[in-house]
Amino acid sequence: MSAVQFRPWAPFPHAETLSHFYILKYQLLLATPSSSIYWQNQKSGARLRSFNMDIRELIQKLPKTDLHCHLDGSLRVHTVYELAQELGLPISNLNLDELEQQLVCGKKVESLPDFLKAFKITSAVMLTEKALTRIAYELVEDAFRENVRYLEIRYYPGWMTQNGLTHEKVILAVQSGIDQAKEKYDIEVGVILCAIRIFSPQESEKIAHLAVDMKKYGIVGFDLVHAERGNPAKNHRKAFDIASKGGLGITVHAGEDEASWSIEDAIDYCHAQRIGHGRTLVEDQKLIQKVVQKQIFIESCPSSNVQIGLTPDFQSHPIKTLLEQGVAVTLNTDNRLLTGINVSDEYVRCYELLQMNPEQLKQIALHGFQASFLADERKKILIAQVQEQMNNL
Ligand SMILES: [Zn+2]
Repeated sequence: MSAVQFRPWAPFPHAETLSHFYILKYQLLLATPSSSIYWQNQKSGARLRSFNMDIRELIQKLPKTDLHCHLDGSLRVHTVYELAQELGLPISNLNLDELEQQLVCGKKVESLPDFLKAFKITSAVMLTEKALTRIAYELVEDAFRENVRYLEIRYYPGWMTQNGLTHEKVILAVQSGIDQAKEKYDIEVGVILCAIRIFSPQESEKIAHLAVDMKKYGIVGFDLVHAERGNPAKNHRKAFDIASKGGLGITVHAGEDEASWSIEDAIDYCHAQRIGHGRTLVEDQKLIQKVVQKQIFIESCPSSNVQIGLTPDFQSHPIKTLLEQGVAVTLNTDNRLLTGINVSDEYVRCYELLQMNPEQLKQIALHGFQASFLADERKKILIAQVQEQMNNL
C-alpha cells in the first residue's frame, strides 16, 4: 500500500486529517478491485435497463428520509462551480463538465488523489456564511424534490472555520439556509453535529457542549466520524454523556471500516441509538440480537460503502440480510455529490440489485421516520401521516 501517494491539493489544516481517513479506506479498496466494475456498470446506464417504471413511480411517491447526509459531501456541482469562480480558486479554470469529473468520484474511484481532491474542493467553497446558507438551502430543496419528508444534515463545524468564521456563525448560517427552504417546502429538517474520532476527546466534548447549547437552532443529534481503526469511540464517551444528558439524539459512525466490536462499543459506551453504516454488524449474530432487542437503527449507506471499496459490490451489501433478520435498517446517501446519488437511487438499487420487494422498501422508509431525532410528539404525527400515504401506494 506504500505505492499510494498523496500530495495535499490545498493548504487547509484539515487536509491531512481527511487524507488519513480515506487512505485507510482506500487500502481496503485496493484489495477489492471488483468495485470498479460496479461503477462502470453504473456509468453505462446498466442499472436502469431492467427497471420497472411502476416501481420507479412508487419510489418517487414513497415518503422518504435521508438521515445520514454529510453537508460537505452533498453540494450541487453547479454551486461548487459558481462559488469557485467567485473565490477565484485554482479550480475556477475548469469548465462544469471537468469539475463534475473531479467531484463525482463514483465514476473513477480507482484514484485516491481524485477522491481526496473532491472533499478539498467542497471544503474550499464552504468558508463563508453566504455560501453555507446557499448550500444548506439547496440540499433541502434537492431532498424535497425526491419526496424526502425528513432530512438530517450532519457536519463538523470546524471544517468551515478556516477563514475566521466561528462555530456559532457556521451553525447559524447553515440553519438560515434550512429555514429558508422550510418556508418554501413541506419538509422537516434536523442537524447533527459531528465530532472527529482522531481529534482529542476534549475537542469532542467542546462540540458536544456546542451542540447542546445551540439546540434551539435546529440541532437534534451528535455523531462521531472518521477512521475507526485505532480510534475507539469509547475514548470520546464523555462527549456522548454531555450530548445525551443534553437531550440530543446519538448516532455513531461504527462498523464502517472496522469489525463489529466497534458497533458494540458505540452501544455500550456511547449511548448510541443509531449506528452510522453498521456494515459489519452482519458478521456477529449475537450483536444482531442485541441491536434488535435494544431497537437500535442502522443508517445503511450502500453505494458509499461500494464506492470506497468496503463492500465489493451493491449485491454483496448486507442491508437486505439485516432487514430479514429483524434489524431496523434505514437507507441513506452519505455524500450525495461525491457518490453521485440521491436517496431514490439507493431505493432503485435495493429493488434492482438486491431484489427487495416493494413491501421491504416501504418498511425501510418507515424505519427512517421511526429513527428520526425529531421530538416525540412531532415524530408521532409525521409517522401517522406517512403511514397513511404508504398504505395508499
Ligand atoms: Zn458518514
